[in-house]
Amino acid sequence: MDWRVLVASGQMIPLYGYRVIKLCLVIVGAFEQTLLEKSNSAKIIDDVNSAALGSLMIDGFGAPIRWVSGEVLIKINIMAWKVSLDKLSTRLNLSLRGIEIPTITCPICSCAGESCSHLFFSCSMARNITTKLARWWEFDCPDLFSYDDWLEWFHSLRLLKGFKDILDGVFYVMWWVIWKYRNQTLFGSSQPRMDMLFDEIVLLSFTWCSNKCKNNFDWIFWMKCPRSLSL
Ligand SMILES: [Zn+2]
Repeated sequence: MDWRVLVASGQMIPLYGYRVIKLCLVIVGAFEQTLLEKSNSAKIIDDVNSAALGSLMIDGFGAPIRWVSGEVLIKINIMAWKVSLDKLSTRLNLSLRGIEIPTITCPICSCAGESCSHLFFSCSMARNITTKLARWWEFDCPDLFSYDDWLEWFHSLRLLKGFKDILDGVFYVMWWVIWKYRNQTLFGSSQPRMDMLFDEIVLLSFTWCSNKCKNNFDWIFWMKCPRSLSL
């Protein structure tokens, strides 16, 4: 066999792999709206997402992932990447894909269509959490209405790089918690507690951060204000 055929075949593998993963994401994206959130099949999402991540790092599918290093879970990074590209199966996105759903209204506030921009930034719940997060981190609470708004604000934020990396991860965790709450509201057997969301973000991000900075990480300082930590 001509060696050039072998080389060409090898070069095609990432391409086909990428397409398979993309298809999986589309299927899972539609599917998770219904059955996956209720079953242990959620592991499939993690598996597909992990596989997709490998593909994404090779192929640069869509936009590059703004990867937060350390112990932020892969699924949380993937989640943030989906937020950045508006790739989550929000009601508005499902409707735009031609999937028939009873309503496109936000299940949290019922005040607007459920888009990524609304759910994670302009929804009253997201704004409430962002206000608490800003108070916790001791910065002025920005008016954010989309991921692009958030990114522009985040780039302009004057903060030491170490703290900025941590804050980046905290926002990722926040989006993860909001999406989980939204899915539990829609598909869970009982209504989750909205008043616990901020505490969950503080705890979950602490777990990640304390693993990353083992030597000088203190829960009391973390709760008070992460900027009071010595990195
Ligand atoms: Zn809303």
